[in-house]
Amino acid sequence: MAIVDLKCRSCEHAFQLVTRGAVKEKQKCCPSCGSKEVRQTFGSFLRNGSLADPSCGAPQRSSGYG
Ligand SMILES: [Zn+2]
Repeated sequence: MAIVDLKCRSCEHAFQLVTRGAVKEKQKCCPSCGSKEVRQTFGSFLRNGSLADPSCGAPQRSSGYG
């Protein structure tokens, strides 16, 4: 399973979908306003800062995907 970050273009509501594969078009519906104008974001990759600065310690475990 994967968690997909989505954001509504109409009301800027950010939400997540848990999916086994690709997100289906009919799933791309804002739970707040019902708009289909939803785009996929990749916010979870950016929250932890730059990827261009690897640390030399133990590899960090991300709990973003279960
Ligand atoms: Zn919305």
